[in-house]
Amino acid sequence: MSGTLIVTGGSRGIGAATAKLAAVRGYRVCVNYHESRAAAKQVVDDIVAAGGRALAVAADVANADQVRDMFNLAENEFGPVVALVNNAGILGQQSSFAGIGVARFERILRTNVTGAFVCAKEALRRMSTSKGGGGGAIVNISSVAARTGAPFEYVDYAASKGALDSMTAGLAREAAAEGVRVNLVRPGFIYTDMHASGGEPDRVDRLAGDIPLGRGGEPEEVARAILWLLSDAAGYAVGTRIDVTGGV
Ligand code: NAP
Repeated sequence: MSGTLIVTGGSRGIGAATAKLAAVRGYRVCVNYHESRAAAKQVVDDIVAAGGRALAVAADVANADQVRDMFNLAENEFGPVVALVNNAGILGQQSSFAGIGVARFERILRTNVTGAFVCAKEALRRMSTSKGGGGGAIVNISSVAARTGAPFEYVDYAASKGALDSMTAGLAREAAAEGVRVNLVRPGFIYTDMHASGGEPDRVDRLAGDIPLGRGGEPEEVARAILWLLSDAAGYAVGTRIDVTGGV
């Protein structure tokens, strides 16, 4: 598969690894970011230095106007968007359920659920065969937390990922007839900055002993599953969930 791919939250972590691998596989990559402009630019520079094509575009995934502008920019530069990875995600400081306020709960759901919803709507509007599009593929990035509920850490985040799982199941069954395959990847404990934003930078190392494989995961290991789901090799995968968790 080639064509234009948008990776939300492509400036860091799993999104950055996905953007780089996608470029190697021949995609023209729109590297979306929210605040980390320098990091997004570095991802683009790395892709271009390796012979690929990429563009960094700022947009808050939950802002429909900004998302529409981002798709327009990507298509003007690289041609029709054929793939979307809904990867942007946030969590708050580790906390018990009782310590989570309504404002924080809504903030987490806004980015993690509304953001994926807004981007998927924009992608479908352009990819759906009934609207003149050529079809495509969407991969949503959930989390093992959707299964565990992340007690005493971030139940709000886990709830957002549970919602994403359900949205993916329904959307996948609607979009299939429109030529758009929608699937899901659930990473486990992966070495990225995300754990620092929860207040525990070394969280993955602390949990490594509980992981059947005995170690945390690398962003590139998640990226490979994402790229498989986007590819023609996964042409019959619809509403599929791939856990990349080292066995958790
Ligand atoms: P990360 O290193 O913290 O990076 C998060 C990315 O999301 C950044 O590129 C950030 O962009 C972007 N982002 C945040 N809010 C945004 C917004 N409103 N609009 C656009 N972009 C936004 O996270 P990660 O660990 O790579 O996680 C990527 C995905 O995997 C998330 O959905 C996460 O829930 C999921 N996941 C991660 C793990 C793990 O162990 N790391 C496990 C399970 C699931 P800026 O920096 O530019 O703001």
